[in-house]
Amino acid sequence: MRIPITMCHGIRPAGEKPLTVEHLDRLVGIAAELGFESIGYDALAAWRDGVGMLPERPIMFDFDHPVRSMGYEVREVLAKYGYSGNLFIYTGPLDPTWKGPQPGTSDTDDLLTWDELGTLRESGWSIGAHTSSHPDLSALSIKDPSGEMLREELDRCNDAIQRHLGFLPKDFAFTSTTWSSAAEAEVMKRYRFGRLWIIGSEDKADGKPIRYADLVGIPGPDEADGGPPSAARYITIESHPYRLPSMELQQLVHEPAAFRRYLEGALVE
Ligand SMILES: [Zn+2]
Repeated sequence: MRIPITMCHGIRPAGEKPLTVEHLDRLVGIAAELGFESIGYDALAAWRDGVGMLPERPIMFDFDHPVRSMGYEVREVLAKYGYSGNLFIYTGPLDPTWKGPQPGTSDTDDLLTWDELGTLRESGWSIGAHTSSHPDLSALSIKDPSGEMLREELDRCNDAIQRHLGFLPKDFAFTSTTWSSAAEAEVMKRYRFGRLWIIGSEDKADGKPIRYADLVGIPGPDEADGGPPSAARYITIESHPYRLPSMELQQLVHEPAAFRRYLEGALVE
């Protein structure tokens, strides 16, 4: 079983590989046409633990950041095909008690409210953790070897979600393409899964560049499209539960033909 998993930051109509509502609809429609059914992390965990079955063609639609389009356009496109997604949120800008740094990402202007996030969850989406201020986790491991800032980032994110939505997140998405062994160790204490993000072939880990394929232990050369080996792009029963992949929709699989090839690649043994 190979489970394709996509990622994006909501509707982003600008730039070289824009993700408009229409384009998202086109891609998600391809998954529907091929008979894929969306699953969340609970189903993934049950399957890994041998206590649950997956649909014949499972797919995961992951999303990072609590931006407005997640609760509206993105949710509506997925719902049109009977799908729901998994959203990972940073909490700093939504948490008045957070006095630390704020995310340096460009998308903090127009965020969902906690009420809207609750509504999204009630509609069948899962919500996971993505730190408080979205730090570069590779750089942070060098800047703060004690790990104190890292633990604060994780604990305060969990605390905000618990206070406002009434549950503790079970799953975590690493920020950008950054990772550290210290962050993974802390993530393992708090969460069930950790998810990475594929936009090319490289990541940053423990203050240094690293090939994505090497980080996740998949042998072989990178592919001609500039991304990691095909096998590294799917969740399998052998995937490291804290180094799960996700394919950015605005990069390697942006073109409908490339997206279709990615999904079809899950169907071959
Ligand atoms: Zn992020």
